[in-house]
Amino acid sequence: MAERYDVVVVGGGLLGCLTAWMAARDGARVLLADKDQINQHASGRNAGSLHFQLEYRMVERGKEAARVAAEAMPLHLDAAALWARMEDEVGEPLGVRRSGGLMIAESADQVGTLEFKAGLERSWGLGVRTLDRAELDTVAPYLAPTVVAANLSALEGKADARLAAPAVARAASAAGATVRTRSRLDRADRVPGGWHLTFRETDHAGGEHDRTVRAAAVVLATGVWTTGLGRLFHARLPTVPLALTMTVTAKVPPLIPHLVQHAGARLSLKQSLDRTVLIGGGWPARLITNADGTPAFDLKHQPTVPSVAGNARAAVNAVPALERIPVVRTWVGTTTVAPDQLPLVGAVKDTPGVFVATGGSAFTLGPSFARLLTGLIAGRAPDIDLAPYDPARFEEGSTS
Ligand SMILES: Cc1cc2nc3c(=O)[nH]c(=O)nc-3n(C[C@H](O)[C@H](O)[C@H](O)COP(=O)(O)OP(=O)(O)OC[C@H]3O[C@@H](n4cnc5c(N)ncnc54)[C@H](O)[C@@H]3O)c2cc1C
Repeated sequence: MAERYDVVVVGGGLLGCLTAWMAARDGARVLLADKDQINQHASGRNAGSLHFQLEYRMVERGKEAARVAAEAMPLHLDAAALWARMEDEVGEPLGVRRSGGLMIAESADQVGTLEFKAGLERSWGLGVRTLDRAELDTVAPYLAPTVVAANLSALEGKADARLAAPAVARAASAAGATVRTRSRLDRADRVPGGWHLTFRETDHAGGEHDRTVRAAAVVLATGVWTTGLGRLFHARLPTVPLALTMTVTAKVPPLIPHLVQHAGARLSLKQSLDRTVLIGGGWPARLITNADGTPAFDLKHQPTVPSVAGNARAAVNAVPALERIPVVRTWVGTTTVAPDQLPLVGAVKDTPGVFVATGGSAFTLGPSFARLLTGLIAGRAPDIDLAPYDPARFEEGSTS
């Protein structure tokens, strides 16, 4: 007889691990399955920024686009509260530091962006303070003299992307969840009251076999694979994949306590607890495709010279001391966004018992996505309006 679960979470990135942990704590029988290893993809390769201000990608396309992106602010505030207590609840270090985040401006235009952005954020309840150059000299003397102002959010900071998901997976397991790696969901069949899910499992000797389990609810926490996974359930889940560049420097003495972002350029940088400086911010990389042009997400994607150089230049422009620090590695990760910069979070239309979350900064927002999905599965009414994130909102005739 097939194993039976209340909740099967597909995907062992941060979102899947959090959802499995929260559902298991709710008392559900949970299976968490990943086709590879826990944290092998975006959740383990990202910049680890916990950013609650609107990011550059959300303000670069004008005020209306920024207003739409700001609709996710309730998720930002929820996630900030969840990150604040996560290490205590998980019971392991996750590298969380909430030492504040600065979004910097170097021109009058960018100062205008900061002012507009801060107004929007405050209207949604995010506390943001604008610092002038004199205050920055005290608070962030490492910034270039060309930086004329910055918005400071005290909630922002970082977590360690290498630590977070594995620790949460261990917490899920301790809470009673079954965790399986090298277990790829290949087939989904609707049965009364749930789904039969068939996983192709690979053992340590490389042998393969199928295992079918029965699930009352299924969570797709599958990042860039989400559109493809949707097809197994005959559901349309549009996502836009991106390959993004990251760079890490050698270890240096403490220099940058804040998360630093830029109001007019792609840039995020921070100093990790191991004292390396992580540089990112959305510089594109080469997404490797299959012969038919579809992205080959399981392959290694390639950094490009213009992006690595552009990202490094943006970092050195903001923090001149970085010019003297050696780079030790660049890499690429893949992630998803939606055209309106809002995530997809919620029940999958016309697909009973199937839930999804992906899109945008799902490392920062993962705790909130997981909390909301777990609540939906348990039949609790969401305390945040999920209409803006309806996975079906891009369908013709949708009114959400
Ligand atoms: C370079 C880079 C930097 C980023 N920086 C930040 C940042 O600083 N802050 C931030 O908030 N966000 C950042 N992001 C975005 C963030 O990393 C992602 O939004 C987030 O990690 C997504 O987590 P996830 O758990 O949904 O997906 P993933 O971590 O991608 O996990 C999905 C999992 O699903 C599994 N899977 C797929 N198909 C199947 C299947 N058929 N069966 C079983 N398992 C399957 C995969 O193996 C994978 O492990 C960044 C992204 C990149 C690429």
